[in-house]
Amino acid sequence: MIEPKLFAVFGNPINHSKSPIMHNNAFKNLGLKDTYIRYHLENKDSLKEKFLSLNLDGANITVPFKEDAYRCCDVLDEYAKRVKAVNTIVKKENKLYGYNTDANGFLKAISSFENAKEILFLGAGGTAKATSTILKENNYNVTILNRSQKRLESFKNNFECFTFENFKPKKFDLIINMTSAGLIEENLPAPKEILEKIIPISNGCMDVIYGKETPFLKLAKEFNIPYKDGEEMLLYQGVYAFEHFTNYNFDFKEIKEAMQKGLSFYN
Ligand code: NDP
Repeated sequence: MIEPKLFAVFGNPINHSKSPIMHNNAFKNLGLKDTYIRYHLENKDSLKEKFLSLNLDGANITVPFKEDAYRCCDVLDEYAKRVKAVNTIVKKENKLYGYNTDANGFLKAISSFENAKEILFLGAGGTAKATSTILKENNYNVTILNRSQKRLESFKNNFECFTFENFKPKKFDLIINMTSAGLIEENLPAPKEILEKIIPISNGCMDVIYGKETPFLKLAKEFNIPYKDGEEMLLYQGVYAFEHFTNYNFDFKEIKEAMQKGLSFYN
């Protein structure tokens, strides 16, 4: 008999995470006895120790431990190596394999904005870093606009970068809020004067934040611009992670539908 497997998501905070309901619903619908729990990690240095002491078969890693997860793994996939961040770990023969499924999940989520070529990222944090390269490789032109200069340093050799002070508004096909502005407060990710110049002439807006209509998305709605939140990005990174957890034994569409059903319990 095959032993049921145990998976977890590590983060801090972690209570809000929808990953357990997505994965547990997929296990159930696909006839598996596996379980997925959430784990509130206090100390980044204990990630590997907790993973091993909980006897996990795999895990997802969320904010703020993706770089620590990268350092824990014995084997890394190409993309995780490049962005130096891991959001999925699988234990195979006592080795930890690290993957980054955020980038592919994001790429799939934005594919519904047809003919989007010129993309503006608002924000230059970890999520922007993990997704900008894959967009460039897929022939999108990405411009980065960030509140402060410091985080732009790691982008400036490969992308056009601006702060609010030197940005010149122009048309972008798709504007994406990559910041945490609006997550727990009601801030916009950039000054309203800038957003009011670029949103109305864009073809779409997306927020990586999910589960709420952020002030940024409310502004897009006011201007009648098509928009979506970060739920599909979450969904697709989860489907790709599940493929790693289950060694590609299930169909992408089947996993996606089961996870979507899980998410619908929240909505
Ligand atoms: P980081 O902490 O790495 O980066 C934060 C970024 O936000 C920085 O660019 C920072 O600018 C900017 N920022 C923060 N507050 C404000 C503000 N009030 N006004 C303007 N800019 C601000 O964050 P992450 O990249 O890890 O996460 C960003 C968001 O992405 C989070 O909300 C997270 O929940 C979400 N996310 C969603 C996922 C999904 O599946 N949908 C997956 C992963 C993340 P500065 O440099 O000036 O400080």
